[in-house]
Amino acid sequence: MFFKDVIGQDLVKAFLLKQVADDEIPHAQLFAGPEGGGKLALVLAYARFLLCQNRGEQDACGSCPSCVKVSSLQHPDLHFSFPIIAPSKSGQKKVSDLFLDRWRARLMNNPYFTTEDWKDDLVAENKQLNIAVDEAESIIRKLTLAAYGGTYRIMIICLPEFMNAQTANKLLKQLEEPGPGTLFMMVCHDTEQLLSTILSRMQVTKVHLPSEEVLSTFLIENHGLSQERALEIAHFVDGNVNEAYKLLTNNMSNNEHFEQLAQWMRACYSNDAQQLVPIAEKLHKSGREAVKSFLEYALHFFRQCIVANYGREELTRLTADEAKFASKFAPFINHLNVLELTEAIEAAHNDVSRNVYTRLVLLHTSFQVHKLLRRAE
Ligand SMILES: [Zn+2]
Repeated sequence: MFFKDVIGQDLVKAFLLKQVADDEIPHAQLFAGPEGGGKLALVLAYARFLLCQNRGEQDACGSCPSCVKVSSLQHPDLHFSFPIIAPSKSGQKKVSDLFLDRWRARLMNNPYFTTEDWKDDLVAENKQLNIAVDEAESIIRKLTLAAYGGTYRIMIICLPEFMNAQTANKLLKQLEEPGPGTLFMMVCHDTEQLLSTILSRMQVTKVHLPSEEVLSTFLIENHGLSQERALEIAHFVDGNVNEAYKLLTNNMSNNEHFEQLAQWMRACYSNDAQQLVPIAEKLHKSGREAVKSFLEYALHFFRQCIVANYGREELTRLTADEAKFASKFAPFINHLNVLELTEAIEAAHNDVSRNVYTRLVLLHTSFQVHKLLRRAE
């Protein structure tokens, strides 16, 4: 990750570059803001810039030995600490390094990920994430080692809100008086959840979600999207880069979604429990992300039906099979129900995101959809 790869965030980038130019880099910084905005992407780009042996004015060189090591997230002066689930073997130290390979893979794949994505990587399910006191000891041990190559030793601590008081207390002295060249960079979604003993020792920088305009421009330039589609995605995800990436990836599986949606809508229309229960069950088993993607597809499909209803079939972005189903289905979506239908699907999407029991959400939504489809007749 380079500064040039971070989507938007021009003000924060300029602020960080100025810190380096003025040689006034705070030893303990916290980057806070909503999920999917790019805090970790910024911190990774900043760490690369600081460790680069041949940096330019705006960005790291990308080719010096240090940049090469950062590219594989294997630089000996770049350390990561993050929440984990308790290791399965008893007596094993609860340290982030147990999951370092998975962490590196996650960061390389998409640094805009959410806490839930990381839990999915860990197959955490109902287990609690935690930064245990063992990890505080591991952090201190790493920072007492001499810096490997250059001027800085960087400790990136992700989601410090998962530290308990015992862990935090162990770190307070380090945060106040770190060794020469040691930089703490914390990345936090929710400062409200952070212990005040930690928060008060950090210089806080807010990182907002990129604007819809910035995100849509990025999608057009880097993912070859049409302006219309890019704006539609940026608007739908409200600037959340992670959600936008998920929508892009899920576009691939629209055909599967279509089959399932057609089946679901038929079952909703007839309020056929014999079909609705197994449909909800199957979706539930496909996992939270798959259900969210399916609901996003449903919203896209409803919108296309409305466009078709207004006689602008040439504008719909539907495949032949979709268009065939839409021609029969579109009349059941109109001004009498479209707002509430959209709201019902969006509410289901929110509930599934918040981890409410997926099967129940789907059954409840099915019943709402049934009433709304009947209203349109
Ligand atoms: Zn370099």
